[in-house]
Amino acid sequence: MKRRDFITTTAIGASSLALLGCRRAEENKSVAINRGKKVKLKLATSWPAHFPIMGTGVDTFANRCKQLSGGSLEIQVYPKNILVPALQVFDTTSAAQIDAFHSGVYYWKGKNSAFSIFGGMPLGLTSEEMITWLKFGGGYDLWRELYGKFNLYPIIGGTTGPQMGGWFKKEIQTLADLKGLKMRIPGLGGEVMQRLGVNPVLLPAGEIYTSLERGTIDATEWVGPYLDKMMGFDKAASYYYTGWHEPGSILEITLNKTRWEKLSTEHQAIITTASEEMTGNMLQEFRYKNAQALQELPKSVQIKSFSKEIIRAAKVALDEVLYDESQKNDDFKRVLQSYQTFTQLNKAWDDISTKNFLEIRS
Ligand code: CA
Repeated sequence: MKRRDFITTTAIGASSLALLGCRRAEENKSVAINRGKKVKLKLATSWPAHFPIMGTGVDTFANRCKQLSGGSLEIQVYPKNILVPALQVFDTTSAAQIDAFHSGVYYWKGKNSAFSIFGGMPLGLTSEEMITWLKFGGGYDLWRELYGKFNLYPIIGGTTGPQMGGWFKKEIQTLADLKGLKMRIPGLGGEVMQRLGVNPVLLPAGEIYTSLERGTIDATEWVGPYLDKMMGFDKAASYYYTGWHEPGSILEITLNKTRWEKLSTEHQAIITTASEEMTGNMLQEFRYKNAQALQELPKSVQIKSFSKEIIRAAKVALDEVLYDESQKNDDFKRVLQSYQTFTQLNKAWDDISTKNFLEIRS
């Protein structure tokens, strides 16, 4: 097309499209306002850059927010210790020094012991059940009320699925074998183990392998076959126990509440949608990669389950921990009541649906 023809055609086209254009502009006004205003959020994580599944999950989350918003919502992800130390993301977001963080809820029990329930409970709900309690059983309302006191707004930001019970240098057959054992195990699981005579140790991720290999600790838990194998634990211990203490740990995308409330409803919906997508993807990725990694563990590794005696004692110790904490903290008591109400409701149905089916299928 010659330049002159192009100008003529464009001029006619422009005049005939003018009215239609006006109407479309009106219809798209709300979208145009949101899309026109570019929003940038700073999000810090508790993981190293591109850390498998958790780190790559939040990278994808940020990309999806950008994509779904047509580029108007940009989330800049800062891996641990780049902008904020790994375990200070809660405080810095609360103080509005950054806008958001991606981390594990179990880290914040020092702020309020009730938070440990939102992170997942030993011998408690699985990932799918936790998500159901949070979304439909009143969990989210309580979580948001309690985080609101820190000017924070939490959203589920992934889940690990069932975690393994950990790596032990010696076989554990009786309760007596646990006495005096040094084990890296955080959270409520650590408190239960302590009541069974274990000495729980807190160690930065980077020091766990060396401590286990040198015998400074006797045991450690981490996540599951995929991430545990990457840590090299299969080279430092031979007994790998099935899980009991983290059946469905929950991760979080948490925003500064004032910042969240200032976002457009469109951007809020995009963040919520991208978080839900990340949660589903993470659960599926953990399932697939753990299944693969299990096949690849060396023959020297023996998979074991804790004895009935140990699990029975763990249940008693857990009840004691929950009772003691409920006496000390009314928030803990309220959250636990909601959690247990859902657990009861869910159990009757789960027994005749999922549990029954898995039994007959196997
Ligand atoms: Ca763990």
